[in-house]
Amino acid sequence: MSRVARATINLDALGHNLAVVRRSAPDTNVMAVLKANAYGHGLLPVAHTLAPGIQAFAVSCTEEALPLREAGLQHRIILLEGFFDATELALFSARRLDAVVHQPWQIEALAAADLPHPIDCWLKVDTGMGRLGFAPADAKAAAQRLAALPSVGTVRWMTHLASADEPDRAETETQLMRFGELASTTSAASVSTEATAANSAATLSWPQAHAQWVRPGIMLYGASPFSDSSRHGPLQPVMQLEARLISVKQLPAGHGVGYGSRFVCPEAMPVGVVSIGYGDGYPRHAPDGTPVWIHGQRVPLIGKVSMDMIAVDLRTVPQASVGEPVILWGEHPHAGEVAEACDTISYELFCRLTPRVQRVYR
Ligand code: PLP
Repeated sequence: MSRVARATINLDALGHNLAVVRRSAPDTNVMAVLKANAYGHGLLPVAHTLAPGIQAFAVSCTEEALPLREAGLQHRIILLEGFFDATELALFSARRLDAVVHQPWQIEALAAADLPHPIDCWLKVDTGMGRLGFAPADAKAAAQRLAALPSVGTVRWMTHLASADEPDRAETETQLMRFGELASTTSAASVSTEATAANSAATLSWPQAHAQWVRPGIMLYGASPFSDSSRHGPLQPVMQLEARLISVKQLPAGHGVGYGSRFVCPEAMPVGVVSIGYGDGYPRHAPDGTPVWIHGQRVPLIGKVSMDMIAVDLRTVPQASVGEPVILWGEHPHAGEVAEACDTISYELFCRLTPRVQRVYR
């Protein structure tokens, strides 16, 4: 038996989740967010699966965009942080990549550029996120200046919502109001009224944010975008992370488990060791009680996570033996539950998986 730390990626579940996007936002274009190696799921298999049902991909940088072009995908590709340096513009132009423009220097770089094909741009407006984008008061002038440049094709609108995952927060309405005013009052010839604001949470729960393009990420991968991770509704988990029991033994009462003996056996008990650790991307700060799944049962992690191993309390599954599969997340336990136990979000769990974890597609 060789070491197993494997993420099985269910591409049918990905298709199912895309159908949920389509049902939630029936009249919009879909820009699927595939940054960070498709949230750890593998850029190209995810892109090829989604390609027939979407209108665009969104990634972070050219390193993530070029493999899509090299794989023959002709879709619009939006680079969410735009270009980092004017020297990248030739590549954007040659490979037909769309740039998010969020800083004045980027407009000046486009003004100075002499490009074979104009670049389509998305003017990012900071309507309240406090991250990338022009202030609403400056955005219209920026969009009009951009649209007038020979190196720029169509200009569309983008904003990002800070609290769409909390359905009662009034900030989302305020952000949408600021954004809606801009996109609807634009008049310059090639500033489009097309706009995008909706991440997964807004795709699911803010129909007024859908505009012409929704921009879902996490929901495609089957995890909940909401702080209440149990609200994943009809979404199907795409990734199942699995390892193996590599040791099962009985420890006496009072025996410590793992570095620093964070867990001490309260009685004589069977302890299993599982072939996964922080070297695979499993969260090192996972506390005692973080759920794993063995024999169709929830079993608690005990002791500190090591680089290659975790320990589990087998008292409820005394029949468990070496070689058996252990599910770290998937259908059960859901990644959202594990994330909650570890005081993080499913996004981070997925993205942190290291290349050591074999991805298997089915
Ligand atoms: N749009 C932008 C600008 C983002 O940064 C992200 C994700 O971080 C998304 C859309 C997708 O968000 P989600 O994964 O919550 O759907």
